[in-house]
Amino acid sequence: MKKLALHWQILLGMAFGVLFAVLLIQFSWGKQVIVDWVKPFGNIFINLLKLIAVPLILASLIKGVSDLKDISKLSKMGGRTIGMYILTTVFAVSIGLVIVNIIKPGNFISEQTRTELVGNYSQDASSKIESAAKQKEAGPLQALEDIVPSNIIGASADNGNMLQVIFFAVFFGIALILIPQEQAAPVKAFFDGFNEVILKMIDIIMLAAPYGVFALLASLVAESPSLDLFKALGMYGITVLLGLLIMIGVYILLVKVLAKKSPNFFLKGISPAQLLAFSTSSSAATLPVTMERTIENLGVDDEVASFVLPIGATINMDGTSLYQAVAAVFIAQAFGMDLSFGVQLGIIATATLASIGSAAVPGAGMVMLVIVLAQAGIPEAGLALIFAIDRPLDMCRTSVNVTGDAAVSMVVAKSVNKLA
Ligand code: ASP
Repeated sequence: MKKLALHWQILLGMAFGVLFAVLLIQFSWGKQVIVDWVKPFGNIFINLLKLIAVPLILASLIKGVSDLKDISKLSKMGGRTIGMYILTTVFAVSIGLVIVNIIKPGNFISEQTRTELVGNYSQDASSKIESAAKQKEAGPLQALEDIVPSNIIGASADNGNMLQVIFFAVFFGIALILIPQEQAAPVKAFFDGFNEVILKMIDIIMLAAPYGVFALLASLVAESPSLDLFKALGMYGITVLLGLLIMIGVYILLVKVLAKKSPNFFLKGISPAQLLAFSTSSSAATLPVTMERTIENLGVDDEVASFVLPIGATINMDGTSLYQAVAAVFIAQAFGMDLSFGVQLGIIATATLASIGSAAVPGAGMVMLVIVLAQAGIPEAGLALIFAIDRPLDMCRTSVNVTGDAAVSMVVAKSVNKLA
């Protein structure tokens, strides 16, 4: 028998989880059974995702930054590439924030469900109140001061300090570029291998995804039987999709104005890569096709494409960053938290960095969402809430990630006169 693709397995896990819980709740003891015997597996799955976050940031950022060594050769192109990547990412996060604040999907949850949600995660809530109290005492430059850790082990041990880990990784990567080649080589080789190991671990964790999703959905249904949670999840999904569609529009505009190519030409050229991204949920897996289409159908010079696209697949994830912004605010809304303007500005910074740090593999964007949540003081338990519909959103955001890389490669190619 042919093995079912992972996304079907996950969808089935979701469906069975809901069905299982709905059936069991018919019995008076059903709810308790789910909480005692099923929910722990969902928690284990979330723990695994969180477990991998720190090593993932270290490995992929150190590798990502030190790979930029080629910039010395291609400094002009490098500067433009990184500039465009950061610009589109910040833009994507901002779009996400604007629409999630307009649609407010988290408000589709009734007061009663919200009280249950907060009750279920009261531990998280109390730690949130603590950190909010700390935040109040802080001076104006506290956020800046907090980026620089005094102890890397301490920073890694504290889930709220992912930004410190990112700081260390970027600093390390830059220093690695600056030391002599012979000394840098073994360190780079180590982190390349380390990165591979981490990606493998994510692969293995994702194998458990159908069961993890089953447990998460079952306990979600058991603990908040009200339908309005699912209504809210639907609105959340629509918000993300709307944002992603707007981003596609932005790329079309970029290509039209800066690369002087028609929307039709662009979309027709890149669509096979978009579809592959959709079905694999991995920018990395899609990269060969993205490169081929960009060079052969979109007229980007080989030299430009082979520099811009691999970096893009690793660090430019506009769909992911947009999704992270929407998801973070949605979870906050679901928990009844009011995010200040300052905190939302912070989300722009952390979602940009978190998407840069996300590996180009399925589910990575959700793992890195932990950073955005932790930094904004939003309960991480909220991940359980959105996990239910993460896979289909992952498929869509990966398509956007790949489209963004291709659009930027055309713009950069045009700027250095290497677009046919
Ligand atoms: N799957 C995405 C990608 O490969 C990353 C993510 O999970 O958002 O681009």
